[in-house]
Amino acid sequence: MTLPCLRHARWDSRRAPSSTVGASLRTGQAVALLRCAAAVLVVCVTLVCGGCAGTGFGGGEVAPPPPPEETATPQPEGRPARTVPEGPLIRVGLERSVTRVAMSSSGHFTVDVYADSVRHIPTAEGEEWRFRAGGGGIEGTGPSSDFEIAAGTVRVRSTGGKPLVVDGTAYRGEIEFFLSAPGTLSVVNVVGLESYLRGVVPKEIGPRPIGEIEAVKAQAIAARTYAIASDGGRAGGDFDLFSSVRDQVYGGVDVETDVCDLAIAETAGLVAQRDGEPINAYFYANCGGRTEARHEVWELEELPYLVSVWDTPRGSHRREEAYCRGGANFDWSAEWTGVQIEMLVQEYLPRYASTPVQEAIGAVHDVKVTERTPSGRVRWLEIRTDAGTYRVFGDRSRWVLRRPKGGGILWSAWFDLDVEKSGGRVSRVRAKGKGYGHGVGMCQHGAMEMARRGHSHGEILRHYYAGIEIAPQYIPEAR
Ligand SMILES: [Zn+2]
Repeated sequence: MTLPCLRHARWDSRRAPSSTVGASLRTGQAVALLRCAAAVLVVCVTLVCGGCAGTGFGGGEVAPPPPPEETATPQPEGRPARTVPEGPLIRVGLERSVTRVAMSSSGHFTVDVYADSVRHIPTAEGEEWRFRAGGGGIEGTGPSSDFEIAAGTVRVRSTGGKPLVVDGTAYRGEIEFFLSAPGTLSVVNVVGLESYLRGVVPKEIGPRPIGEIEAVKAQAIAARTYAIASDGGRAGGDFDLFSSVRDQVYGGVDVETDVCDLAIAETAGLVAQRDGEPINAYFYANCGGRTEARHEVWELEELPYLVSVWDTPRGSHRREEAYCRGGANFDWSAEWTGVQIEMLVQEYLPRYASTPVQEAIGAVHDVKVTERTPSGRVRWLEIRTDAGTYRVFGDRSRWVLRRPKGGGILWSAWFDLDVEKSGGRVSRVRAKGKGYGHGVGMCQHGAMEMARRGHSHGEILRHYYAGIEIAPQYIPEAR
């Protein structure tokens, strides 16, 4: 995936004007601006903006972004005394299609209403406001003031340095509301990329001890790289990233930890690159001993850095020596009754089969792995039914054969099946499997063990992503 260099440089007039550096810029814009600025300042000659030429400014609807302002943003309380870099601002979608939102803070904030006219409403300490999509527009109600607009944007800014609380969750940065569809609101957190990571890394790798900080740094770089490599066009361009597993899980201020904060600060601005471009930094919990090449399990192009590697010390190709051997679900098993298999196949095969399923599936007569990838994962799962024989490709196999008793998708697509039949119909299926997750890219359990054994974050990342380099993508500004 290529880094957009002003590729998304579209200034949306619906949006509130920026009140912080680069606010309302997409990630790509902000990064591009910072790259260009860095080149002009000769801060780092490798951060050239040569990619700007011929990309972006050509179309009539494309306009240069507004110039950055130098307004200082107050810092929420509770953050470390040291200065913390913010990085480019990104737009994280917190909620979509909601009709009501409650907002509060233990400090002061302003409610800035951008409609036909602009109105700035200051609040008293501890006020709670309610916003509602109704009457064809947005209504806001506070203890001593209110407003109603037919269209426009509402931007809430902390002025006392304390986080803003949206429906019970505290966030750094600013909160923006706008109508996403008639009668519903979208809620977006406009926040510095580095602050965003503080609410992402602990959710993605969990609270870790200081002895594993190199793995946390690797996770921080992977998460930062993911955010930057994102094309920034979620929900029709309303925001850059979802705050859920659809992108990266983001928990705001309450999930932050000292170790994760330190790992993020010590890698500020660093991303994983190959040939000068941010990589697709996939990660997951446990590879089961060997990672997977992306194109083997997903119908996506082959990438030179997402290849299958043994998750073992150099020179060893022994699964029992895998770094992730002590992690949960390194080995797993599952068992289904014939009825459970038929229910899963009935519900999920039509979504994931390689060919259309056009009639009722009926009985399941067989389930078998007919082809495997070089790592041993399922390349083709074949399911024979009353309606015909269907095939499921690669990682999709675990989206059909879900965990028994409604436990979500199967732990991995690296499994062996033992199928019992009765009267030509599947009566029981047992699976023995390896690993937890898709297996493409960084194995988190392996990364933790590598860190415990003294490997650096660079060594960890280069172990899982072939031929990459760790390089500054932008120069984070400290505030
Ligand atoms: Zn592993």
